[in-house]
Amino acid sequence: MPDFLAEKSIKDFSEFDDHRFVAYLQDEASGLEGFIVIHRSNPSIPSFGATRLWQYGSLNEALQDALRLSRLMSYKSAMAGLDCGGAKGVIIDKVGNRDEKKRKELFRSYAEKVAFLSTHFVTGTDAGVFRRDLNSMKAAKNQIVGFNDNATFLTAVGIFESIKVCLKEIYGNTSFEGRSFAIQGLGKVGNALLTLIEKEMKKSGIEAGKIYGADIDPKAIALCRRKFPKVIIVKPEEIHKQNVDVFSPCALSGSLSSMTITEIRAKIIAGSANNQLANENIGVLLHKLDILYAPDYVINAGGLIAVFDEFKNKTYRENKVLKQVLEIPNTLQNILRKSKKENTAPNIIANIMAEKIFNSYA
Ligand code: NAD
Repeated sequence: MPDFLAEKSIKDFSEFDDHRFVAYLQDEASGLEGFIVIHRSNPSIPSFGATRLWQYGSLNEALQDALRLSRLMSYKSAMAGLDCGGAKGVIIDKVGNRDEKKRKELFRSYAEKVAFLSTHFVTGTDAGVFRRDLNSMKAAKNQIVGFNDNATFLTAVGIFESIKVCLKEIYGNTSFEGRSFAIQGLGKVGNALLTLIEKEMKKSGIEAGKIYGADIDPKAIALCRRKFPKVIIVKPEEIHKQNVDVFSPCALSGSLSSMTITEIRAKIIAGSANNQLANENIGVLLHKLDILYAPDYVINAGGLIAVFDEFKNKTYRENKVLKQVLEIPNTLQNILRKSKKENTAPNIIANIMAEKIFNSYA
């Protein structure tokens, strides 16, 4: 793959989907390098996409990530009933750990680029970006969201309720009794999901089957062992192979590939990670293998619903937001119904539905 600056055009990237705006960011003084990408835009509201600070192998890799993630945001917004297009900010983490002063400079510089897109782009925290970084982004303060703690919890609620829909579809009831889970990634969402599963058990006085977990970070594993002693920790490369009812990818992109799907023994795949499918055809293969895949962007929209509300209403309206998040399982149900009727993979059905919505914007 050529370096994007060296040769060829943006159209040569297979991830390019007629994106509306692709900007390369560079500022030598602060060490800023990255991209802001807008997939689709609705003239009435800025496009939404959180910002990621990540160590990429190359500029190409960072651009590909931004193109794919911004595209996914358009699909996610559309299926969550939000009228914004999708976007993404990606900052290349060239030095790993940097001191706090340099970090502030980096985000100050990034904020100036964000502010340049004033009515076009709203952003917040994604992997590698934390709430304290938002405080360094004053230049773009009207375009920043994510000051509320509840976004991750709401993402987990959407996943949890969607798992119930999947259980009903496969087993005829939503009970967690005896059901087993494999959770890939024990970070913020993984933990929140485990909390909800445990709560469900306590509430109904039932016993879950085995719950397996995996993470590449020893600190995340140690925390999980403390908080959830019943969770059986397995190696990261083994988690998708567990003989469970539900496999829940809550780590990073691409965990469902032609390599991994033949090893999956779960009947249901439902998790929070964005871009779980290495490509759309993997979703079609899962459908042929009779494995129910709940489209990632449909069921993980809880956090986006929360920050969208924060932007529009400048405050957090818990009941209103929760009500909207609880629409997610209904949306999933519609997709699964259509999928069954048309014998078409759920990811394809969801894509068609979302495209119809965002293609009507401009
Ligand atoms: P996080 O960074 O807190 O947790 C991710 C965890 O996955 C980390 O502990 C990391 O060490 C682990 N991990 C990375 N690669 C792994 C691998 N190969 N195997 C096992 N573990 C691995 O992130 P999060 O907020 O919990 O989000 C999880 C996923 O859900 C991400 O893909 C994120 O983009 C997506 N998501 C999150 C939200 C939200 O509200 N937080 C909303 C929508 C989507």
